[in-house]
Amino acid sequence: MTLPKIDVPTYDIVLPSNGKTVKIRPFLVKEEKILLMAVESKDNENIIKTTKQIINNCVISDNVDVEKLPFFDIDYIFIALRAKSIGENIEMSYTCNNVTPDGSKCGGTFKAEIDVSNCLIQKNDNISMDIKLNDALSIKMKYPTYTIMKEIMDSQSTFEKKIRVICNCVDRIVNGDKVYTTKDFSKEELKEFVEALTQEQYKKLEEFADNLPNFYIAATSTCPKCKYEHNIKYTDFTRFFQ
Ligand SMILES: [Zn+2]
Repeated sequence: MTLPKIDVPTYDIVLPSNGKTVKIRPFLVKEEKILLMAVESKDNENIIKTTKQIINNCVISDNVDVEKLPFFDIDYIFIALRAKSIGENIEMSYTCNNVTPDGSKCGGTFKAEIDVSNCLIQKNDNISMDIKLNDALSIKMKYPTYTIMKEIMDSQSTFEKKIRVICNCVDRIVNGDKVYTTKDFSKEELKEFVEALTQEQYKKLEEFADNLPNFYIAATSTCPKCKYEHNIKYTDFTRFFQ
């Protein structure tokens, strides 16, 4: 005798980067288990791999390439999956690091209720995807992928990180009537190109990298010890599972 197959509900969500509707299903017990194990391992590469694997499993629409989506779409899908699979509220613990009048840290612990359905996108509409460096030269930008962003966060000095983020935001370089796509140059060549820009030109690219869209969940909670009301901005979505 075979046991009955369980029907899993599906939901439509709209991708923030392009407005496309995709169908998702909640993740299953076995998927939550491997995700928990990955988070507990604290191995960044393993967490990235498992997160992408689960998103691949749970996105039913077949026109979605997890490897190519911008990182904030992945965050958004992950938040939606958490809400549909486990629930919309998560209780997180924090330690208050306010400095008291005697100069020591408060150290009070408090909990905050994070409401997943209350996620917001931070996006600067003044930032253009098309950056003009001089009369002939311009760069068409793109948003980096999830893998790239997570790898970069894990390593290197702030300056090296910034350069890597910027290089991964370059989609095409246009010089007069010549167009160079990422197929036309190596990573090293691109890095050399970026490092050879003037300060003024570099700042334009830096502004783009500093203003990438980002999801966050806002919450407030009061420290019982010093009575300070903390405004919490929650951005690390893999912490959902700790
Ligand atoms: Zn406090």
